[in-house]
Amino acid sequence: MFKRILGYRKNVRLLFKKITNYLSFHSEDMSNLIKRMNAVFDRHDVKMTYFISTFLVEQRPSICSAFESHDFGPHGHYHVNVAQAGRRAAWNEIKEAVRVFKTHGFDPWVYRAPYARHIIENDPNLFFEFEKKNGILRDSSINVGPPPWENPLKPIKHDCGVITIPLIGVADDGLIDNEGIFDNRLLVKRFYNAFDQGRTGIIVYDLHPIRMGQARFINVVEALIKRLKTEKNVRIISLRDAFEQFDKKAEEETLVCFTGDIDNLSIFDYARRLVH
Ligand SMILES: [Zn+2]
Repeated sequence: MFKRILGYRKNVRLLFKKITNYLSFHSEDMSNLIKRMNAVFDRHDVKMTYFISTFLVEQRPSICSAFESHDFGPHGHYHVNVAQAGRRAAWNEIKEAVRVFKTHGFDPWVYRAPYARHIIENDPNLFFEFEKKNGILRDSSINVGPPPWENPLKPIKHDCGVITIPLIGVADDGLIDNEGIFDNRLLVKRFYNAFDQGRTGIIVYDLHPIRMGQARFINVVEALIKRLKTEKNVRIISLRDAFEQFDKKAEEETLVCFTGDIDNLSIFDYARRLVH
């Protein structure tokens, strides 16, 4: 209990910033934020993939109707960091997330671990084995950090048969909360730069609706898509299609996927998560 709070003990300022940002961002309902993002994606024919912590689905099943025609998958149950919580908690998180999705008639076809942390008790494979045992074969739980990367990014095939498409470590939480960037042009530049350094691989963005769905930031999403569309040899593709098509892509082609995690529907959920 309180592990998350203790995790911030060396950086009280960041915790304070996160909470104050969340307080202001949560003044708008999450379904509006998601729909504002969808409107941009629909305008540009982009298929988004949302990841949602399933305690939120249990609490408010109707939130999933906000995803409209876009894809979605589970993002843990209580948004537990399995690297800290250990084996039993990791298993329960995945199992519970799958159960909630199925109970509500949704398909848990892909999974993203909260904080993109997946090493359980120093075992690099266990998490993916747990996914497999729960019927999940597609994953997006590895964060490859910010560029430069040694090689262009590509799907990672685990021994148990699960495939991970990694996400990049350039995301709005780091840029806005940690670095304090509120300038939209600079945000676009940072997102674009990640693509630029990852050409010929696959770039998976994590654009959290809590920030990028805000009226003040939504133009970043649109400007980034427009910029990417001016490039040659770039295909913006759904995460689902990327699993099938990466191996068939032309060598010079870069695939880009848009994803976004939903960890809270209100500031109270954030507080609830902190004690798990
Ligand atoms: Zn998350």
